[in-house]
Amino acid sequence: MTVQPVHGEPILAFASIRDIIAQAPVEPVYVLYPEKFRIAARRFLDSFPGDALYAVKANPAPQVLDLVWAAGIRHFDTASLREVELIKARFPDAHCHFMAPVRLPGAARDAFHRFGVTDYVVDCDFELDKLLSETGDPKRLRIFVRIATPLGGAVLELSSKFGTPPQESARLLRRVVDAGARPALTFHVGSQCLSPFSYAQAIEMARRTATLAGIRIEALDIGGGFPGPYSNNDVPPYHWYFDTIREALATLPQPIPVLCEPGRALTAEGVSLITQVILRKGETIYINDGTYGSFDELTLPGWSADYPVRVFSIDTAGRVRERDTQGTAFRVYGPTCDTLDVLPRPITLPQTIKAGDFIVFDNIGAYSVAVRTSFNGFFPDHWAIVGN
Ligand SMILES: *Cc1c(COP(=O)(O)O)cnc(C)c1O
Repeated sequence: MTVQPVHGEPILAFASIRDIIAQAPVEPVYVLYPEKFRIAARRFLDSFPGDALYAVKANPAPQVLDLVWAAGIRHFDTASLREVELIKARFPDAHCHFMAPVRLPGAARDAFHRFGVTDYVVDCDFELDKLLSETGDPKRLRIFVRIATPLGGAVLELSSKFGTPPQESARLLRRVVDAGARPALTFHVGSQCLSPFSYAQAIEMARRTATLAGIRIEALDIGGGFPGPYSNNDVPPYHWYFDTIREALATLPQPIPVLCEPGRALTAEGVSLITQVILRKGETIYINDGTYGSFDELTLPGWSADYPVRVFSIDTAGRVRERDTQGTAFRVYGPTCDTLDVLPRPITLPQTIKAGDFIVFDNIGAYSVAVRTSFNGFFPDHWAIVGN
């Protein structure tokens, strides 16, 4: 059964991942689980007290956008004009919010005049001036000033590049009000945030910033950062995040609209990747995808998480058998001719793994597809759906 045409090619639907492996794919295959996309979206739609914006940069593949939309997400954090175009072309009724504090000249002009985008972020005078002059109708704008948050519980921090301290944010907020736009605040606690308390701390900073500015903010966007479940990372239960956030929001002087921008949390679990072992040399294997393809995030400084792994073989009778992964630590190289194309940590695989076997990496939907390259002629782009 085929599901929907994407890039002119149908996505094949299968009953299980074994049925895909039975076809012995020699190139990597992204496997989509619609049910897991629905579960991820439901967490936010049911438990977050405001709009959940999908941060498109986490995975902009059309196949994935369709599942995020089908799961009920209608708001998008689009951080470039291209992302706005991508979303508006695919979902004309979507609400796009331009939540990047640094924009190319002309990006806000096109987003505002061509696509009607009215939410923007700033963290300095230059970007605020540029935004006001490109849009020219401040009354229609809701401008979020981005606060820098302290290094907290996130694996990947984002506040050295973006955001300003409370004093400076308060000054910018007053400028937003003076310009006639609606003032709001935002922050991003960092990606793969393992501490719910980081959100409470940042919400408290937002409260103090608004007090400092002496103004009533009209919205608060608490950003992304909600973690994905990987090996070697202790992820607290999601309700700890939502309970902590709700408690912190209750300390604000009045109820205001709140937003969040999950990227990883909406896509990580919905995608698995089937790879094949090309070659084994002792305790080193070469597989058909690598750090220039789907595995870039594993190489980031400070990153210690790994994708959960399953191993399958096709036996002599043509049956697909799942293997016990207890065994030996293997060094894993990708397919390109570059020495750096190696997974940064060994993975534990069956001692008897061999060329032709399959390694499935689960929970690989975030920051994998999004940053793959076609370096050396390898570009993973086969897709399949399991379940509905
Ligand atoms: C990357 C990013 C997100 C998504 O972050 P996740 O950690 O994937 O949830 C949200 N908002 C902004 C502004 C971002 O830059």
